[in-house]
Amino acid sequence: MINSERDMSKEGAVSAGTIQTDQRLRERRMLVGSLSYLVTLSLVLAFWYLGDYSFDVVRNYIAAVLSLVAFFFVMFRTNQNLRFVDPSMTLAQVSLSILPAYYVMFHSQQSRPVFLILCISAAMYGLFQFRMRDFLTLSSVVIGGYALMIVLICLYRPAEINLKLEILQWFSLTATFLQFSGLGGFIANLRKKVKDNYKELATRNGELETALQRIEDLAMRDELTGVFNRRFLMETIRNEKLRCDRTGSMFTLCILDVDHFKQVNDQHGHIAGDQVLQQIAKTASEALRQTDYFGRYGGEEFAMVLTGTMSEGAIITAERVRRHIEQIDLSSISPGFHVTVSIGIADARRGEDPAATFKRADEALYLAKEGGRNRCIVAELAGTAAEPANPMIVNALQDT
Ligand code: GH3
Ligand code: MG
Ligand code: MG
Repeated sequence: MINSERDMSKEGAVSAGTIQTDQRLRERRMLVGSLSYLVTLSLVLAFWYLGDYSFDVVRNYIAAVLSLVAFFFVMFRTNQNLRFVDPSMTLAQVSLSILPAYYVMFHSQQSRPVFLILCISAAMYGLFQFRMRDFLTLSSVVIGGYALMIVLICLYRPAEINLKLEILQWFSLTATFLQFSGLGGFIANLRKKVKDNYKELATRNGELETALQRIEDLAMRDELTGVFNRRFLMETIRNEKLRCDRTGSMFTLCILDVDHFKQVNDQHGHIAGDQVLQQIAKTASEALRQTDYFGRYGGEEFAMVLTGTMSEGAIITAERVRRHIEQIDLSSISPGFHVTVSIGIADARRGEDPAATFKRADEALYLAKEGGRNRCIVAELAGTAAEPANPMIVNALQDT
């Protein structure tokens, strides 16, 4: 009888559906394993045919086997097996499967050595499942059962037994099962080591993944604000540019500079200045779409890459970012304290070098500063800034 699963009762944690699937699997394994009784049955029939015992013995053997199969089937069907540490009841299945054979051996004169070999093969099913303790239990059943059988035969049919031979057989059986127990313990140890190594490997893998994630973050994130860093931004701009040249998809580059940030540092200290940068980064990131990129590319300078957007749409986004930043409550630094930003906007032109796009956005930023700060200016469209553009700025842009 086989049932090759030892699962410690973790069932509580899994869903009812999974439990039922596991139960049907155990049931199927038990039924398939029961086919091994057919081998024993053929020998039982063979020895009956040779006149070793009456047909009553065969009939009782079949009845015992069917009772055992029915017993385990009912246990699995009614979920009674789930009450045991090993819900597959492997040890019980292997131990009890030996008893019908013992019954035949008791009534037989010649078949005992043959059936003993089958008992050993039944024990092999547990070799990769059992702990040493399980093997010792099984050994007690096999060795004790055989000893009891010899005693009973001596008592009831002393004329039919060669006691010396039986004792030697019993001794050989005991030695075999003790070796099985030792081997089982050794294999159980190996299994435990493999399991421990696997766990250790899983932990190491987890740590490695975290470290990799950290390295990735370090490579693409700005340490102070957590938004993308300069390197990642430049790479993104280059990639978007390639896409723009190949597919015609558009994007807009916005450069954002904090107004009078030097004064923030001078008046409130560098730590407060850092906090302001963090707040700005958080606010701007939250105001953008998932598909847009926001990063810090210099001290108090940030850049936004707005994908799939031309400057007409970009100015709406940039204005939203500007307004949100203007409204950041910085009273924890100083009561009523606010900061503003100026934003230069340039949409990428097909075939234009990314550096040139960057330069145009930078020029627009310069115009925004010149125009009085706290405003957004589009490179090509000076005068369409959210704040009315200074005529001087319009002229300056027209001149370029
Ligand atoms: P403008 O409106 O013309 O941009 O004036 P500004 O004062 O912001 O311009 P400026 O470029 O002169 O000053 C930028 C300041 O930003 C200078 C520098 O001390 C500060 N800064 C740069 N990086 C950091 C940083 O990581 N943390 C802090 N706290 N300050 C920084
Ligand atoms: Mg600056
Ligand atoms: Mg500045």
